[in-house]
Amino acid sequence: MRQDSAHDFPARDEWRKSGSYEDCRLFTNPPENTVAADDLAQMIRGCRLCADRFAATATAHAPRPVVWFRPSARLLISGQAPGTRVHASGRPFTDQSGDRLRDWLGMTETEFYDRNRVAIVPMAFCFPGLDAKGADLPPPPVCAATWAAQVRAVLPQVRLTVLVGGAAQRWHLGAGSVTGRVAAWRDHAPRVFPLPHPSWRNNAWLARNPWFAADLLPDLRAAVRAVLEAP
Ligand code: SF4
Repeated sequence: MRQDSAHDFPARDEWRKSGSYEDCRLFTNPPENTVAADDLAQMIRGCRLCADRFAATATAHAPRPVVWFRPSARLLISGQAPGTRVHASGRPFTDQSGDRLRDWLGMTETEFYDRNRVAIVPMAFCFPGLDAKGADLPPPPVCAATWAAQVRAVLPQVRLTVLVGGAAQRWHLGAGSVTGRVAAWRDHAPRVFPLPHPSWRNNAWLARNPWFAADLLPDLRAAVRAVLEAP
C-alpha cells in the first residue's frame, strides 16, 4: 500500500460535490443512521458495488469486504484498503504492515483483534487490485462515500481514532500532506493520531523523520494504553 497513492482521495465534506458520491447507488437511499451495527456490517459484507471495477484489474478479483467493528469499540483504526494478504485471510492487517502497526501502537495481537474494543475500518473494505507496477491501487472513493459516515455513526464509544495513511487522513482532516499532518500530531492528540502507512514502502520516510519514533510513538502508545485500560 502506498500512502501517496491516496493524495487525491476526497475529503469528507467534498463527497456531496463529487461525481463518485452522486454515482453511488446505495447512497441515494441510505439506511437510517440508527441501523444496528451488526446489520450494517452484514450489509457491507454483501456489498458488490465495485465488482466491475475489480474485474477489470490485473487480478480480476471479486469484492471481498473485510469488516471489523462492533458498537462497543473504543479505539478506531482507520486505514486505507486491504492488500493481497488481507484479501486472502479476510482479517485486517494480517501482514507485515500489521506487525509494524501493532508495534507502533504498543498492542499485542490479542488486543488488536479484540473487536469489542477495537474497530478496524479502512477507507475501502475490499482489496482494490494492483497497478501495472504491482503496487496496490488506491481505495475506490465510492466505498467511503457509501459506508464511512454510517459506520462512524454506529461507533459511539470511540475515544481514540488512528488515521493510517493519506486516504483516511484526507477524509477525516481535509487537505494536506501526510508528512505535514503527522508532524502536527499534537494538534489532534490525544483523541486523533495521524500516522504514515506502516508499509515497507515508507521505510525511507521513517528514516528521514526520526522524530516520528522518538516523539510521536511514545505519546501514541500512552494514548492507546489509556483508552484500552479505561473502565
Ligand atoms: S470496496 Fe467498498 S464499495 Fe467497493 S465492493 Fe467493497 S465494500 Fe463495496
